[in-house]
Amino acid sequence: MRLPYSPTRRHPRLAELSVPVTVAIDGPSGSGKSTVSRTVAMAFDLAYLDTGAMFRALTWAALDAGTDLSDVGAVAHLARTAPLRQSTDPGSPGVWVGERNVSRAIRESRISAAVSAVATNLDVRGELARRQQEIIAQASATGRGIVAEGRDITTVIAPDAPVRILLTADEEARLRRRQRQTGGQQVSDSTRDEVLRRDRDDSTVSNFTTAADGVTTIDTSDLDLPGSVEAVVQVVLARSGRTPQGAA
Ligand code: C5P
Repeated sequence: MRLPYSPTRRHPRLAELSVPVTVAIDGPSGSGKSTVSRTVAMAFDLAYLDTGAMFRALTWAALDAGTDLSDVGAVAHLARTAPLRQSTDPGSPGVWVGERNVSRAIRESRISAAVSAVATNLDVRGELARRQQEIIAQASATGRGIVAEGRDITTVIAPDAPVRILLTADEEARLRRRQRQTGGQQVSDSTRDEVLRRDRDDSTVSNFTTAADGVTTIDTSDLDLPGSVEAVVQVVLARSGRTPQGAA
């Protein structure tokens, strides 16, 4: 689907945004948060941080090194030492382990199936949280601002962000979206595992099913991509715009 905004087509109300602004977006698998977050970042010329890609890249690195994912110490050591790099340009996102571009490889189902084992390692979370907060602070320091998305951005990584949103969608919508991404007609067992089992495991360490105080919930079950983007844009403008909501 064609994205409603791009690096050459910004949101018409871009000038109303007070920058730097941090926009924190959480949500379960299939809520649409990655595409929506990236498009909102493009609309407002903000940097973009996909924290899920960071966990996925570390999982890729661990599997590549033959590390036993249940070896908590070994995986935590890898989190501290692996040469992970990530682009924060929403027009060309990407992630590297050393010189290897793993942007495509981290989307494979073997990574989706394994990532929760890495993400529920609390030492790993501590190390990646440090990296994520550094990237957010850097984007703020340059005066640009950032859209950061994941599972614990509104609660742990950037709880003081002026704009905090929980994107949700009902189970059926989330399964349907994920299945469409993999090209199948029927919801397969592997899609169920990737959405439902993964969310169950991930929610043992993060709360991304109910909004924390001050977090705005947007239910995207009945919204398409442009509709979801516009709903988020309205919250960003209302919480961080120079003009009061509805004044434009
Ligand atoms: O968003 P995405 O599905 O790419 O995230 C991949 C995995 O990364 C999640 O299933 C979860 O295990 C982990 N994750 C996390 N905390 C975040 C972002 C992602 O634990 N903030």
